[in-house]
Amino acid sequence: RIQRRNIQYRRDIDYFAPKLIAIFESLVPADEEIAKQKQLINSLNKLISREWPHARLHLYGSCANSFGVSNSDIDVCLSIDEKELGKAEILLKLADILEAGNLQNVQALTRARVPIVKMMDPETGLSCDICINNLLAVVNTKLLKDYAMIDPRLRQLAFIVKHWAKSRRVNETYQGTLSSYAYVIMCIHFLQNRRPAILPCLQAMEATYVVRVDNIDCAFFDDVDKLHAFGARNRESISRLLWAFFHYWAYQHDYTADVVSIRTGTLISKHSKDWTRRIGNDRHLICIEDPFETSHDLGRVVDKFTIKILREEFERAANILQYDPNPTVTLFEPY
Ligand code: ATP
Ligand code: MG
Repeated sequence: RIQRRNIQYRRDIDYFAPKLIAIFESLVPADEEIAKQKQLINSLNKLISREWPHARLHLYGSCANSFGVSNSDIDVCLSIDEKELGKAEILLKLADILEAGNLQNVQALTRARVPIVKMMDPETGLSCDICINNLLAVVNTKLLKDYAMIDPRLRQLAFIVKHWAKSRRVNETYQGTLSSYAYVIMCIHFLQNRRPAILPCLQAMEATYVVRVDNIDCAFFDDVDKLHAFGARNRESISRLLWAFFHYWAYQHDYTADVVSIRTGTLISKHSKDWTRRIGNDRHLICIEDPFETSHDLGRVVDKFTIKILREEFERAANILQYDPNPTVTLFEPY
């Protein structure tokens, strides 16, 4: 492996920032799409409250964390306090309610790793997956959304990284690469660690938002309107940041020792988390700590074959951004 630690930015690095911003803008969903999603949730809420007056639907995932590209499926969580029925029974009953409400392609997947009901709304054309009581996902959705409001470069960086990951087929957890959620966490960590920093560590600040979910205390500063100028002292362009992001993951990250942690805002050691050995299916070849479920390594899906693919893709991206005459095209060439 060639070490390229002290490589300089190419001279025209800032020239392709506008092209990257144009790519970002082409990926952002239109306001009408967001409105349609809200409309669907409202009508589903009405349908469900007839049967379960205290149940509520929440949007989570990319349609609610502000990192969603247009036309993605929407992720919905039903929060329900139902002691009589098990999860599978709730899902089956939910499927009946949706079918009676004229939603299409209703399917209850009760045996999936995360059991869900899938459906399509003929009125808006939107497809959605509904899970039950996955409230931690609702809270981590809010954390990501709050980070996105602090500095616009986070959304730009994360959209471009997600777009790269989808084009290069390294955004497929069932094939041993990373989830979109993991990539966004990597971007937040990276911007927390620029100097001057572009993002703060919200979980290390005075907590203004506190909830307890599944016996986990989730607490962070969420008055992000007060943080609008946080990253202003750092003037790096999106092209520099993208280059530095891939350069970090290609040549600088210490895969044997370090864990990315947005909870603390720094790197922490694998040793301190006892993530140095393979335990069960957790291989810990690339370690990304979940901000709330801290025993959860978002990189655990990566195995000894896919880590190699992933690191080669990071190197490819870093080299394209360093040397390629047309980086904003070559970077996203399909795998
Ligand atoms: P995409 O645009 O690719 O659909 P997404 O933001 O919806 O992106 P997913 O990886 O599909 O990302 O995850 C949906 C949501 O589920 C995340 O926003 C997060 O709240 C939650 N989630 C996903 N993976 C994990 C995980 N490993 N641990 C905890 N929560 C997760
Ligand atoms: Mg999703």
